[in-house]
Amino acid sequence: MNTKRVDSYSKALFEQAKSVIPGGVNSPVRAFSLVDSPPVFITKGRGSHIFDVDGNEFIDYICSWGPLILGHAHPAVEEEIQKALRDGSSFGLSTEIEVKMAKLICEIVPSIEMVRMVNSGTEAVMSALRLARGYTRRQKIVKFQGGYHGHADAFLIKAGSGVATLGLPDSPGVPNNVTIDTITVPYNSMESIRHTFEQYGEQIAAVIVEPIAGNMGVVPPNLGFLQGLREITKQYGSLLIFDEVMTGFRVDYHGAQNLYGVDPDITCLGKIIGGGLPVGAYGGKREIMEQIAPAGPIYQAGTLSGNPLAMSAGYRTLRLLEQIEIYGELERKAARLEEGFKQNAELTSVPLKINRVGSMLSTFFTEQEVVDYETAKSSDMQVFKKYYTSMLNLGILTAPTPYEVMFISAAHSDEDIEDTIKAHYQVLSNVKS
Ligand code: PLP
Repeated sequence: MNTKRVDSYSKALFEQAKSVIPGGVNSPVRAFSLVDSPPVFITKGRGSHIFDVDGNEFIDYICSWGPLILGHAHPAVEEEIQKALRDGSSFGLSTEIEVKMAKLICEIVPSIEMVRMVNSGTEAVMSALRLARGYTRRQKIVKFQGGYHGHADAFLIKAGSGVATLGLPDSPGVPNNVTIDTITVPYNSMESIRHTFEQYGEQIAAVIVEPIAGNMGVVPPNLGFLQGLREITKQYGSLLIFDEVMTGFRVDYHGAQNLYGVDPDITCLGKIIGGGLPVGAYGGKREIMEQIAPAGPIYQAGTLSGNPLAMSAGYRTLRLLEQIEIYGELERKAARLEEGFKQNAELTSVPLKINRVGSMLSTFFTEQEVVDYETAKSSDMQVFKKYYTSMLNLGILTAPTPYEVMFISAAHSDEDIEDTIKAHYQVLSNVKS
């Protein structure tokens, strides 16, 4: 591993990018704005390693923000994409692989009886919301503070304080009258949910939740939280939407819903189901899904939806996940990483809390248990910044923000994990000084 990190070419590309792409990036987190390092520009990935334009090699724990559960450039997935490409890249008409993919998803995810493919997680969630509103003929939705569901207007809400906060847009360009029906409450607080339903229950179309929060760093659901959401939504005739864009096929082959034994009405998927290509999907109970056009009146469409390359990559990925004993191995490696990090924190007396579910792991520089957005924000940003750049210099690439996840893939070797633990120790030893 190259530990003398050079970043001149990345820096130069970033300067050029800034003149033609807003902020120099096609998605904000890639700008590395929170940390004292220019963003890395990537040339290629192989297995668990990623390479940048300056010739640096990193152990990659971003894994394309989750999709690459098999690692970069998995030979079988690559071959499937190439095979599909030989017949054409897009038809805008139906193909057999779409049917195979839909059948497979319905077989794997317990609550999904029918599924519609789209092109991103954002699109999946946006469409699921329209479906929930159309089906229930209600307007209001409940989301959780620190929960990210893509960038559709209705979900871009700043989480306010208090028990339940009626939404104000988090971004210019989002009209007040779109977010006025979004109610934001603290994650893991059944009390706030009960209060919200007492006030607005008959108007609530759906509660949307990341069953394991992953966009404030990893925050697992408290015991009974998801069950509580299931019960209260049923009681009031609202729908329960699980946003499994990140957790789907990541923490369990059958989704977080299987791990926690909760049956949502609608599930949103993305990331892993595209095998590295742009895909999203939403699915659920037949009675609800049949409301979507052309079966029903709720409109949703897509020129590239069900794209043959994306379907082939995704289908192959899901088949591979079924065939190999991947989840046990992911758990073993991620548990070792967690244990190593914990030991390092003890040895160096750096306050560190680690949250992990399967191969999703986050570290927070705080003394507090992290159970929601407020506690996630207690992570010391100055320490994180120092930590981040030092890890990068030692060849460990993680998300450049404490509010994201470290993803462990099947391609990460035991050696990668041990190298990461060693680097982590070295960095923690220096982080306070
Ligand atoms: N939902 C969740 C839980 C996500 O983590 C993300 C993206 O990170 C999205 C939705 C949006 O997906 P996309 O970036 O594919 O639009």
